[in-house]
Parts: sequence; structure tokens; C-alpha cells
Amino acid sequence: MREQQERMRVSFDLDEVLFVSPKTHKTEPELPFPLNRIFHERLRLGTPDVIRTLQELGYEVWVYTSSFRSEKYIRRLFRLYGVHFDGIVNGNRHMKEVQQNSKNVLPQKMPQRYKISLHIDDEEVICSLGPQYGFRAYLLDAQDDEWKEKIVARAEQVKKLTNLEHRTNQ
Ligand SMILES: [Mg+2]
Repeated sequence: MREQQERMRVSFDLDEVLFVSPKTHKTEPELPFPLNRIFHERLRLGTPDVIRTLQELGYEVWVYTSSFRSEKYIRRLFRLYGVHFDGIVNGNRHMKEVQQNSKNVLPQKMPQRYKISLHIDDEEVICSLGPQYGFRAYLLDAQDDEWKEKIVARAEQVKKLTNLEHRTNQ
């Protein structure tokens, strides 16, 4: 029998990545009243499609945000767009599980601690830590009509690289 393969994990930052301003980015339609009064965030156009496509391709999709929005809030908001995340790390969870009582202040995000192989973020400083800490990153900031194709391609590339590394390490 074949060993069950672990699904590769991809995570998205929220602010300026999945949550964007309609002034600078194309966005998904806002939620109907009164839900739009509870959930103010606007999703980058294509967000539900990108997440579901990655999941259909066999990836786990996580959120990794340094904001303190609760997991419940994030889940409810995305469920209204038909999206279910495989895992969520917010500022609280990071503080509790990653930073803990460490005397050194660790980076704001440590995706490798959650076995995340690819993290998508708008902050260059976070993306630049990848090589040092052992994760790969994709920088997403401005409006980009082809973000889905580019991220799927990057995920497939990282999957190939990771498989290759596993084989060489055996
Ligand atoms: Mg951000």
C-alpha cells in the first residue's frame, strides 16, 4: 500500500493580501446588509476561486495573520463566501505557540512552525525571511489580474522542490 502523502500547506496573510481596499484593488462584491455591517473587510477579487482551486489541487490552505481577529470571526466571514480554511493562525495563536516566553523577539510569522511550505504575504521583510527559516514565500501586494495562475504555479514549483529535497535526504 502506498504511504498516505501529507498534503502541502499554503498560507495567506489577510491584510493587503486577501483583504484589500476597493480604492486600490478589484474586490469581491460586499456582503448583503446587515452582514456588511458586521464584516467590513473586502476580499481581493478571485479569493474564493483561488482558495478552492488550491484545495482541489490537493493543498491545505491556511491563514497566517499577525492581526488579532478571532478564528471564529475569520471562519464566519469566509464561510459567507463559501470558503473553508484548513487552519488559521492569528496573532494570539502565534504569541501562545510560537513566541511563547522566548526572550528573543521572533519574527512576526514563522510559517515553518506549522509545516507551511509556501506563505503569501504583502510584506517584503516577511517574505525575505523564508530562506533563513525554511519556508518559501510569494510576495503579493498590488492588483494583479493573474494572481491565481501565478500562485498555483508557485505552489506546484514548491511542491516539486520539496519532493526533490525529501528524496535527496533519504
Ligand atoms: Mg499584510
